[in-house]
Formats: sequence, C-alpha cells, structure tokens
Amino acid sequence: MKTLVPAALALMIFSVLHAEDKPKTDPKPAAAPVIIKTEEEWKKILTEDQYKVTRQQGTERPFGDIYKEFEKQGEGTYFCICCGAELFTSSEKFHSGCGWPSFYDSSKAKNVLERVDNSHGMRRVETVCKRCGAHLGHVFEGEGFKTPTDRRFCINGVALKYVPKGGQPPKLLEPESADVQKKKEEVAKEGGEAPKK
Ligand SMILES: [Zn+2]
Repeated sequence: MKTLVPAALALMIFSVLHAEDKPKTDPKPAAAPVIIKTEEEWKKILTEDQYKVTRQQGTERPFGDIYKEFEKQGEGTYFCICCGAELFTSSEKFHSGCGWPSFYDSSKAKNVLERVDNSHGMRRVETVCKRCGAHLGHVFEGEGFKTPTDRRFCINGVALKYVPKGGQPPKLLEPESADVQKKKEEVAKEGGEAPKK
C-alpha cells in the first residue's frame, strides 16, 4: 500500500496536468441561430422563391430580374429577407459579371457566417445569416478580382432586402421565449408542423 498510494496520486496529478494539454483542434460548432422558426412559419412569411433559396439552400437563376435590379441599385444597405439582419452594404458591392449579386466583404455588422459546404461533389464555403441561418450563397476567394479582399460573396438576390441610403431598415425579427424556440427547434429537426402555442 505504501507505494501504491503515491503511485495513484502521481497518476492523478499527471492526469490533471495533462488534461489541459489536449489538442485544441476540436472545431467549434457554428453558433446556433437566434431566430428559430418551423418550415411552416417560414413559408408563411416568405415567397416561394425566397423560401426555396434561404431555407432549402436553393440557387436563383443567374442574370434574372433581381440581378438586373441589383445592378441598378445605388448607395444603400442589404438586409436578410428572413429576419432583417444587416448583411452587406453598397460599399462592398462590385461587378463580377457572374450573374449574381457580388460583394467583396460582408458589412461591419458581421452577420454573415461562413461554413464548409460539401454538397454537389464540391467543397465550397456557404454563407448564411448568423441570426436566422438563412442560406445566402457562397464565398469564393483568390479569383483575381481587383478588390481589397479578392473574395467574392456570390449572393442570391432573393435572400436580400435592399434599402436605399436614408431609408427605413426592415423590422428586425425578435426571438421568441427560450421555451417556444426550443420546441420549434425540435419540431424543425423532425420537419413537422408548428407546435400550437
Ligand atoms: Zn436572417
């Protein structure tokens, strides 16, 4: 016993000391969105096109009417069509010729989250709204555009709400109580109907 106790103690100290040496490579899970709604609820507040793109990772047709409008828009701010969070401004807008709204950076509000997307046999970086998880588009880099970042946020126009400079920003969707959100999160996972309040 005399030798066993110090050995056990030594092992304990060893474990404690080395617990902090564990590699810190665990990628942090992306922050959960603040706004959680069921698919049915999103369908009620979005048009079919907006729903398909933002909630089902869809892609709008390039060079469509929305893109033509985008090209004409002047100074202003671009908000999330789902929750009203500020995403981009005209200061970061540039003409890439790709047929989708392009920005070289997100706005200072930092509401654009980037995450790896391995769908369609490609490794791309998806961009989503940090507040509500809306799919916005993708971000590409190193394409040689003469912009300050050489990054191209290739964004679906239907995911954006444009407000000209000096205009009234859209109403920011506020989260419901933690209980209601939690229930909706569970329902959303199962793809079912909205719970009755
Ligand atoms: Zn949003």
